[in-house]
Amino acid sequence: MINVAIVGYGNLGRGVERALEYADDMNLVGVFTRRAPETVAAEKAEVFSIDDLFTKQDDIDVCILCGGSATDLPEQTPYFTKYFNTVDSFDTHARIPEHFENVDRAAKENNNVSIISIGWDPGLFSLNRLMGEAILPKGETITFWGKGVSQGHSDALRRIDGVLDAVQYTIPNDEIIERIKAGEKLELTTRDKHTRECFVVLADGASEEKIREEIVTMPNYFDEYDTTVHFVSQDVLNAEHKQKMPHGGKVLRVGHTSEQNKEVIDYSLELDSNPEFTASVLVAYARACGRLAKEGQTGAYTIFDIAPKYLSTKSDNQLRKELL
Ligand code: NAP
Repeated sequence: MINVAIVGYGNLGRGVERALEYADDMNLVGVFTRRAPETVAAEKAEVFSIDDLFTKQDDIDVCILCGGSATDLPEQTPYFTKYFNTVDSFDTHARIPEHFENVDRAAKENNNVSIISIGWDPGLFSLNRLMGEAILPKGETITFWGKGVSQGHSDALRRIDGVLDAVQYTIPNDEIIERIKAGEKLELTTRDKHTRECFVVLADGASEEKIREEIVTMPNYFDEYDTTVHFVSQDVLNAEHKQKMPHGGKVLRVGHTSEQNKEVIDYSLELDSNPEFTASVLVAYARACGRLAKEGQTGAYTIFDIAPKYLSTKSDNQLRKELL
């Protein structure tokens, strides 16, 4: 059994709790939160204060860190890696090298293992970008995201004066995807690759025209995209757009193995629940983390470093027999 702690209980933490129910070789020690534990209701697990982690150090093999990437994980992962083996889903791409250095130092100084930036992007998509480049060195890789809800863009809509609530979908351009797969060489702008669709609940008296204009011209978020805005009631938003957090996307590698032959690698995800899927990836890599630690490895790792067999509950022999 690998004993696991969930550190931080938001969407991802809840997803990890669910994913662990499908992992027979793992035991959930508890949820550990910075908030008063009595104010956090987990689905089944016992909830403790984050300070109680240290009283349970001997009972925990791996901490799955479920804090946010913006401010939690840059602090939490190096800190907790001094005391525990850890896995996180740090997803600020530009800051991954710096995060890796910080976590690697903490892990090596304290003989622990940490696997960082696990999930689907960064994560499974990164792995597929690497495979695409390695196998088809003459070619091009393009990543598309969606259709899915972008939390950042939904938050940006909610901050507009006169908007009560909103959900934003990022939608990939299927026509462009088919043309790339057919081998067309395209010079793509941001606008060509994705469109954005917004469902917005207005406050009483707010002007549709004014708010639509404010949305489609919002710098960094919408001005570089073709954006459609729908105004809906709160009931419709709740019933049709807030029950799940769908997402997905694809990594395309289109290359040539000779002058006359084109090859396409198309890795796609269609997710009903972004946090539950990300959590399931984290749980598989928590298994790898526990095993690497048991082998006496130390230091920080990314998805590029972990051999696939460490993710599986099957023995090496079973893997050769059943999946090779
Ligand atoms: P979230 O729901 O905002 O939770 C983040 C943290 O905020 C939690 O750990 C929790 O810590 C605290 N929190 C949650 N609900 C709260 C509330 N009601 N009041 C006060 N604090 C609350 O974020 P998330 O959706 O779980 O996402 C976490 C991170 O996962 C994201 O920042 C993103 O970087 C990453 N992610 C990565 C991928 C990938 O593919 N790599 C995919 C999806 C997400 P405490 O319990 O300690 O308070």
